[in-house]
Amino acid sequence: MFDKSSQENIDLMIDLHNDVNDDSLLLIAKYYLSEYQVQKTQIEDISQSEITLVLKTAEEEKIKRVKFPQEVKDSIEVSNFFYFCLSQARAKAPEDYPKTRLEKQIEKTLNLGTYITKVKSKKIISSNIIEITFKNGIINLPNLRNDAFMYFIVHKDINHKYPEGFSMEDFRKMNATEDCPYSAAYYTIRSFRKNEIDVWFVLHDHPGPLAKWAEEAEKNSEVAIWGPRTTFTPPPDTDNYLFIADETAQPAVLASIENLKQKDKFTCLFETQDQSSRFEYEDNENNIEWIFRGDQKAGEGTELLERLNKISIDPKNLYVFGAGEAKQISKIRKTLKRNLNLHSDQMSFTGYWRKTH
Ligand SMILES: Cc1cc2nc3c(=O)[nH]c(=O)nc-3n(C[C@H](O)[C@H](O)[C@H](O)COP(=O)(O)OP(=O)(O)OC[C@H]3O[C@@H](n4cnc5c(N)ncnc54)[C@H](O)[C@@H]3O)c2cc1C
Repeated sequence: MFDKSSQENIDLMIDLHNDVNDDSLLLIAKYYLSEYQVQKTQIEDISQSEITLVLKTAEEEKIKRVKFPQEVKDSIEVSNFFYFCLSQARAKAPEDYPKTRLEKQIEKTLNLGTYITKVKSKKIISSNIIEITFKNGIINLPNLRNDAFMYFIVHKDINHKYPEGFSMEDFRKMNATEDCPYSAAYYTIRSFRKNEIDVWFVLHDHPGPLAKWAEEAEKNSEVAIWGPRTTFTPPPDTDNYLFIADETAQPAVLASIENLKQKDKFTCLFETQDQSSRFEYEDNENNIEWIFRGDQKAGEGTELLERLNKISIDPKNLYVFGAGEAKQISKIRKTLKRNLNLHSDQMSFTGYWRKTH
């Protein structure tokens, strides 16, 4: 049996692949498993020895068990095997077979840059969000707008100076060793100006190295950032948006709505702890609905899902962007996909963090 944390990651992985990466599953079925007649594939189960798939052709539905080369220990090994199958399938697929959503995402990580920048100033946004403005070293950072996010690599010594030419590769090598002094996590660019960006850091219970760094950082503290990337990819005919976010994804949503066309309609559901963590934002048309967790902990709020279960919205030309705690977002994705009959291209749902306490 997998340990609890791996099993939770694997459950989330199964949901994500079945809901969103079904095009990758189909590619694997056709060209890794040589099941050329298959029209739809879903993962039924993953154990330490095999992945059980349901393959559907025009005539029948059958079960196929794909054995791991050797028993897998955790969700990372399962994920590695999945990417191996995908790359093997791609190698055998005809040249004109379309790229899958996952392959397009992987492609975006090629040729990203690492930038060393410094804290310019800090500002309080709400009782659990602080804004840090970073300046210098990012003159060549592309402005992707919307939910553009970067991988922030911080050192445990707040006064650390990064060596000249420090890169994501250096971090990867060091991260594979014991007592790596660096930690990293993704954060969104809230606002972009020339050679300067604002980032909103959520301060939370059980702060990890990044939340701690954000609290301790002072003027001129250095950070390495790798990116940028986005997942916000509405189809061209979209004219209505639904945004769903806890505190971690509110910067991504605000940057995205500020970049919408004037004729576009949008609705935002923002979950936060309570009135003190609600920040001021010019919202003349009342497009933002605030939902308070109250006594419930971050990642465990139930009100948001209840509200979404009742939402009445026309799915035609709608694009839904949702991000927050992984299990919460997985439930929301399943609910909205079912209730609104959304196509995979009409939605981007991302687990921005995973509750472990
Ligand atoms: C694409 C993307 C964009 C993101 N953008 C932002 C952003 O703009 N601002 C932002 O604050 N975060 C953002 N996040 C989330 C952020 O990367 C995570 O919250 C990260 O885990 C924080 O790292 P840490 O070192 O503070 O905590 P970790 O070491 O990862 O976790 C320590 C403990 O804190 C808990 N925890 C982690 N995050 C939270 C939280 N937000 N609330 C409550 N408990 C938490 C964990 O469950 C764990 O128990 C983004 C994530 C992604 C994938």
